[in-house]
Amino acid sequence: MACTVDARLTDQLYLDMVARFVGPATTVSVPCYNGVRVEVRTTGQAVAELGRRLALLVLTLQQLDLMNRDPPLVYITGAPGTGKTVVLVLQGVRWLRQGHDVHVISTLYTTRAVSTSIKQQLQMSLSAGPTPSLTPGSVSYHLYDIFNRKGDVDQAVTDLVACVNNGHLHVLIDEVSFDSRVKRGSRHTRLVTRLAQRVPHLYLWCAGVHNTEIPPALQTQVFTVPLRSAPAVLREIQPVIHRFAVHDYSDSGVPAPGDGLSVIRLSHHGNAHTGRWPVDCAQCGQDIAVELRRLGVGRSVANSPSRLSYRDVFVLTRSGDLHDDVTDEAGRVTSPASGVVQGLKDAGVPVSVLGVQDFLHNRARWEGAVQDVAVAATDTVTVAFYGWVTGLERRVVAVLQGRHQDDDAGWTDEETDRGDRLEAVSRCTTQLITVRTPPVTTTPPSLTTTTTPVTTTTPRHNLIQQPLPPPSPPRPPPPPPATTTTTTAKRRRGRKCVLS
Ligand SMILES: [Zn+2]
Repeated sequence: MACTVDARLTDQLYLDMVARFVGPATTVSVPCYNGVRVEVRTTGQAVAELGRRLALLVLTLQQLDLMNRDPPLVYITGAPGTGKTVVLVLQGVRWLRQGHDVHVISTLYTTRAVSTSIKQQLQMSLSAGPTPSLTPGSVSYHLYDIFNRKGDVDQAVTDLVACVNNGHLHVLIDEVSFDSRVKRGSRHTRLVTRLAQRVPHLYLWCAGVHNTEIPPALQTQVFTVPLRSAPAVLREIQPVIHRFAVHDYSDSGVPAPGDGLSVIRLSHHGNAHTGRWPVDCAQCGQDIAVELRRLGVGRSVANSPSRLSYRDVFVLTRSGDLHDDVTDEAGRVTSPASGVVQGLKDAGVPVSVLGVQDFLHNRARWEGAVQDVAVAATDTVTVAFYGWVTGLERRVVAVLQGRHQDDDAGWTDEETDRGDRLEAVSRCTTQLITVRTPPVTTTPPSLTTTTTPVTTTTPRHNLIQQPLPPPSPPRPPPPPPATTTTTTAKRRRGRKCVLS
């Protein structure tokens, strides 16, 4: 070419040439009278396409009505995937466009991911385009730990009152519970009540799954139409919903775009399962990797809507003992990755681990990892304790079911199953993979091999503990495993305490 811009070489001609010589020229355009045909030939493409359709925003008439009425103080309650967070984001965008500053509050470590996601979505809406005539408001993000730090409720009230502008304050809080049987419940109640007392024109919209003990100052909205998960996934969650203080799903005439794909059920029993606990076994990780490969995960251009990327996948567990290789300052591995993580890596799957080790020993790295997961910044499979991805969703979710080493004195198998379904399965929009391992006995089975001995730098039993669940249903979902900031956490109800 004689010059940098050649009128004869149009963009289309350039694309045709590239397609001819370096790739399959598979896309054609023809005049069409019956709509565009979507090419779906493989299971993976079906998962990707259904996941794309499920991700398209749908609002129910009830949600539209709420947005139109626009009350100042709202608590939205509903089972996972009923559109609570979406409505919070929409309300935040509305406030911003009206010129109000919006304060997004994360009250617990377990809500960092979803709160980060809300904050990011609001900021993206600001950069998406000009707002009508007004100067838009700004987004502020406030982080607290009201479970471990009693004073954080008062601190949050003080901080927020200082942000009041002409008597007005606009606040969003996701994943709230007012159930006084758990510590965070009474503290959320105190936070909301005090804010309502101190701020003359408070606009506070919050959301959570629990439907008990809602402060009377808040107008309650119950969402029951499932909007996130395909029916095939919902059928795995629904049987346990009535065991929690959560409103059941309803069929309100909003059909799903498809039934979803059959659940892939992996079962790893007998001596082949190495390690005592579900997260210990490298073969389990490799088995998950085989299914991901079968779905074509990662075999594509990242972000292509009709293909699955690694970032579309969660591998979730209740275990707090999940970790990647732990290294010392010299880079030497002092504790090898959990078996399931190693298995995935051995199979060539790029993984990011949201584990307890970083939370305890490198909080900055943990916070960075949470932010990445919240916005799916890295094209990796996220392997995580399910409490840390509350409120997020992925097209493909693999759940390592069953009790974990943190459960020695805690939940029964049935309670564990309920938690797995409500907290982990519900993150899935389209393709669920479950992994069952041998039931754990009180005495460790004699294992033939242990390929991934785990030597944590902190005693495991200090990391995560659950308060005992209330005696009889209905009751709230068990709080997620708590995590101490030190290994000398105080005891609660005779057990080592921690964070919800
Ligand atoms: Zn296994």
